[in-house]
Amino acid sequence: MEIFKYSASISKEISSLKNHGISFGFVPTMGALHEGHASLIRKSKSENNFTVVSIFVNPTQFNNPGDLEKYPRTEKEDLKLIEDLGVDFVFMPEISEIYPEKDLRIFDFDGLDSVMEGQFRPGHFNGVAQVVSKLFKIIQPDKAYFGKKDFQQLAVIRMMNQKYFGNKNIKIVACDIVREADGLAMSSRNVRLSPEHRKSAVNISQTLFKYQKNNKNYTVNQLKNLVTKEIDADKNLKTEYFEIVDNTTLKPVEQIIPGKTTGCIAVFAGDVRLIDNVSFS
Ligand code: AMP
Repeated sequence: MEIFKYSASISKEISSLKNHGISFGFVPTMGALHEGHASLIRKSKSENNFTVVSIFVNPTQFNNPGDLEKYPRTEKEDLKLIEDLGVDFVFMPEISEIYPEKDLRIFDFDGLDSVMEGQFRPGHFNGVAQVVSKLFKIIQPDKAYFGKKDFQQLAVIRMMNQKYFGNKNIKIVACDIVREADGLAMSSRNVRLSPEHRKSAVNISQTLFKYQKNNKNYTVNQLKNLVTKEIDADKNLKTEYFEIVDNTTLKPVEQIIPGKTTGCIAVFAGDVRLIDNVSFS
């Protein structure tokens, strides 16, 4: 496994291997790796000759400086996990390597970025697009792997790839949500949950699963109210939003269309903000 700190050196190495017909899969991460990340890496390894993982805690996507500061960093363990998975290249740049100067670019995602997460984390997706567009240019992968756990991010990245990269060279691959045994969606933030909040957090996915299964018995408004009410009945949890949206436009729907509608939620468990989603069929 080779570790790169500089864009120029990893770009050069990758482009020379691509000239020899080697295909590249790319898994962008912010570190604090867990089984969710591992599943993306395994998928990339199964579909490409070489796999590149980046670890970069991107400051421009944090609208809250405290959240950036508290973001878990576990570099040594991350490198061990990545090495054990057989990753070929790791890209771990310093902030100054990615942002030698302030990135002033504003992306336009036709409103995809202004609902849900965008409403509560203004500027978040612009920051995500800034870093992912830079990483795409540096790595130039054949395929890039993203988790459905970040459902809205996936939609934004797909649009970025289409609008700003012409959908030509990079195929975006969506990977299923990996969950803990009790159903909680894996997240780097889970390590920050107190034992009590960790116990409560299971109610998020369990409530979503319950109404995913019984969705036909309710209207969209009833589903929204019931999910929020049941989660907030736990004193350790506070729902920020629960929206039932169209998979492509991310606009709220009035009626569930099986296979085309997803319920997306953000919940505070103490001061830890968790997101999850379920698709309705
Ligand atoms: P992050 O390090 O949180 O930026 O995540 C890096 C990638 O891993 C993103 O594409 C996430 O959607 C994905 N990911 C994070 N958690 C999970 C999970 N539990 N299941 C599947 N993918 C995940």
